[in-house]
Amino acid sequence: MTLKQLYSKSSKDLSFTDCGEFEALCLFNDLLGVKKENIYLDNKEASESDINIINNAVHRRKNGEPLQYILGKWDFYDLTFKVGEGVLIPRPETEMLVDFALEKLNGINNPIVYDLCAGSGCIGLTIAKHRPDATVFLLEKEESAYKFLCENKEKLGIENAVLINGDMFTLDISMLPCANIILSNPPYIETKEISGLQKEVLFEPVTALDGGADGLDFYRCLAKTWYRNVKSDGFIALECGEEQSNSIIDLFYGKYKEKQVIFDFNNIDRIVTFRI
Ligand code: GLN
Repeated sequence: MTLKQLYSKSSKDLSFTDCGEFEALCLFNDLLGVKKENIYLDNKEASESDINIINNAVHRRKNGEPLQYILGKWDFYDLTFKVGEGVLIPRPETEMLVDFALEKLNGINNPIVYDLCAGSGCIGLTIAKHRPDATVFLLEKEESAYKFLCENKEKLGIENAVLINGDMFTLDISMLPCANIILSNPPYIETKEISGLQKEVLFEPVTALDGGADGLDFYRCLAKTWYRNVKSDGFIALECGEEQSNSIIDLFYGKYKEKQVIFDFNNIDRIVTFRI
C-alpha cells in the first residue's frame, strides 16, 4: 500500500468525525512527518511501522479519544502546546481571554498577571510569551495537568512565568504580589451535567470540567478572596459557560467598578470581566 492509499483509507475511516480528511492530514503530518502538500503525490510504499502508527491512531479516534490527545499537541493563539490525558485541551474561545488581557496590559510596564486553573498553561504562557516584561503566575492543582504545564513552559522557552502546584481555594495569597490582571478559565460545568457530556469530552479530566453543584464554585472563590489581590483599576477576566455571566456578575456585586460580558462566535456569553 502506498502512503497516498493509506491516507485515502484513513480519511474514509475518519469520515464519522465530519472532518476525516483534515484529521487524516493531521495524523500524517504530526505522526509520520508527511507534509500536507506531498500526500497526494506520495507514491512511496508505506512501511509496516507507518501503517501500524496510522491504524492505531484511527482505532483510538474511533474509540472516541480526542484528536488532540492522539497528536499530543494543539495550537492555541500563535503557540503550540503539549497536551494529553490529564489536561484540558485548549479551546479557540479561550483566545478571546488572551486578546482581552493583552489589550488591557498595553501601556503597563512589568505587569503582574495570574492564570488560575492554568491546565496546559495556554492562557498564562501565551501572555508571558507576548509580554516578556510581565511576571505571570500560573496556578494548577492537579499533578497530571501540572506536568504538562511544566513541559510547556520549558518547551516554549518561557522564563517570566512562575508555576505553582497549588489549590486556589486554600492557597495563602497574602504573600503574593497584587495583580494587574487575574485570568481564569475554571471548571464551570454543573456536576449533574458531567455524565451527559459527549464521549470525547469525557476523555478530558473531570477535575477540569466540574464546577460543583451549580457550576459556580470557582467563581465564588474568586469573588470571595482573589479579587482582593487585584490592584485598583486592575482586571479580573473569566471564561464562563452559556448563561452563567449574570450569576457571576451577582457574585461580584459591590466588588467592581465596571463590568463587561464578551460573546463568542456562537453568540454565547463566554467571558466576564471586572475592573476592580
Ligand atoms: N486554563 C486552561 C485552559 O483554558 C485549563 C482550564 C481548566 O482546566 N479548566 O485550557
